[in-house]
Amino acid sequence: MILVNDRFVERTEATVDIEDRGYQFGDGVYEVIRVYGGAPFLLDEHMARLARSLREIRLEPPYGIDELTDKIRRLITLNALGDGIVYLQITRGASPRTHGFPKNAHSVLTAYTQTLDRPLQALQEGIRAHLTEDIRWLRCDIKSLNLLGSVLAKQEALDKGCAEAILHRGKTVTEGSASNVFALIGGVWFTHPANHLILDGITRRSVLRIMQELDMPVKVEAVTVEQLLAAEEIIVTSTTQEIMPVVAVDGRPVGDGSVGPWTRRLQAAFEAAIRETASRSS
Ligand code: PMP
Repeated sequence: MILVNDRFVERTEATVDIEDRGYQFGDGVYEVIRVYGGAPFLLDEHMARLARSLREIRLEPPYGIDELTDKIRRLITLNALGDGIVYLQITRGASPRTHGFPKNAHSVLTAYTQTLDRPLQALQEGIRAHLTEDIRWLRCDIKSLNLLGSVLAKQEALDKGCAEAILHRGKTVTEGSASNVFALIGGVWFTHPANHLILDGITRRSVLRIMQELDMPVKVEAVTVEQLLAAEEIIVTSTTQEIMPVVAVDGRPVGDGSVGPWTRRLQAAFEAAIRETASRSS
């Protein structure tokens, strides 16, 4: 079942108007929520970020966030989702094409679930990453539907046999094409501050909390490409990639080229949080 505004409908009944502003302008925002064993993970944080994204683009959702949260839970139950994701987006709706906001806009909300296994092998072995210039706009803090900059960066990485692109603006490392980046340098974890140049990842925040709990030194400061290339360990974090070790950047090994001990400790703590979530639904 698919959630379209306030109705649960079959996939074939869920259609998009060709003049929907999400389709024509990318005029909308979205969220991806992880579900483990039927239980949504960090749902309230995703909903709070969605509310912020909506405010930042001056978009009124069809109904309130509390009601939406209930409907997301209902969607998961209706689809008997175990391990997977909920994708949800809200656009400024359909109206004759013109850039300015339409006078009588009715926002359009759609959400669906997708089964998705955890990337266990990659979490174990790590991935290779490719460095590329960050060509995105200057409001990366908004989880907007405009993903072309990220799409092109990811494809460039895939074409080079890498699983993720690490973006930099000039000398400064910002984030991944679909993830946040942490680098362990001289025994301190560095990650870019949550400003307009990155998306403040829900996983990033969770990892920062875990680092604090584990007494790992952290500096929320950007690093340069040169510093990144000298890091002992690197991870990228996201809702679907979790705490993903990066073992090579542009063909150069990170540390000794295997997953480092600090990364393993973070992954173990994150696993515990996942297990706790999954056990809540059973
Ligand atoms: N940055 C970007 C550009 C992303 O697309 C994502 C994933 N959507 C993230 C960071 C990670 O965010 P989260 O942990 O909330 O999935």
